[in-house]
Amino acid sequence: MRRMTREPTNDEAIEEVAALLARSEHVVALAGAGMSKESGIPTFRGEGGLYSSQGTEPPMNQYETFAVDPARWWQRRLEEPAGAFANSIDSAQPNPGHYALAELESLGIMTHLITQNVDDLHRRAGQRSLTEIHGNRHWLRCTTCGMRWPRAEFPIDPEQLPPLCATKDCDGIVKSDTVMFGEAIPAYALRRCAEATWLADCFLTVGTSAVVYPAAGFPADAARRGVPLIEVNPEQTPLTHLATHVVRLPSGEALPKIVQAVRRHLALRRTDSASGASESRDERA
Ligand SMILES: [Zn+2]
Repeated sequence: MRRMTREPTNDEAIEEVAALLARSEHVVALAGAGMSKESGIPTFRGEGGLYSSQGTEPPMNQYETFAVDPARWWQRRLEEPAGAFANSIDSAQPNPGHYALAELESLGIMTHLITQNVDDLHRRAGQRSLTEIHGNRHWLRCTTCGMRWPRAEFPIDPEQLPPLCATKDCDGIVKSDTVMFGEAIPAYALRRCAEATWLADCFLTVGTSAVVYPAAGFPADAARRGVPLIEVNPEQTPLTHLATHVVRLPSGEALPKIVQAVRRHLALRRTDSASGASESRDERA
């Protein structure tokens, strides 16, 4: 392990991170609420969080309430006006951090993104290989076979509640795709995250406080296997001690700079391999 006499500045860290990413082929990222917050979506906990400002905790038996009487749950869902969290999601737009992660994917560097966010912003920014480990607020899911549909494509008849699965030979009960308190994360989502993590040659955490498990377990597993771990977060997290590189900036500020530097590394490498390394090196400055 390298010992430095001082911490690298954010600009130095961004350069090192970009060089590392540019030579990686299976980068897996874990994104958390910090990314959504930069798009104006309030976090649940912490300063200004929904729970903190209301002085309440969410009901921990949400899923039990649903499972006991899904028709009643749906009835309430259709009748009640949307809360502050729902309204902020519906008006939110992807920010430069979301677009930068999607770009890392299209550059062939990032192979999978695990997100704890339910707001659909990664998908809207163009991310393709994505596990929404806590579900997606704009989607629905069958509790039996796990099939998912965008809510807009699944008509719900208020006279026929709860809605039932549209897959052939399955009449499972359909719920919101968002994983409720007390509900298990779907097994296929966990499996996909574990497989991606196993293949990772570099792991990137972005805007996550890394306290919610099992999500925080994936970067920890990778790091313990010796995979370089990059943390992009304004504050320290419980994963910081495992990180090989740390950028202490908001994701919307750090990620576009990182991607810009990655592009420079890739262009340089292309020039090197096309015309021999010697003269093109000088163009870098
Ligand atoms: Zn089904």
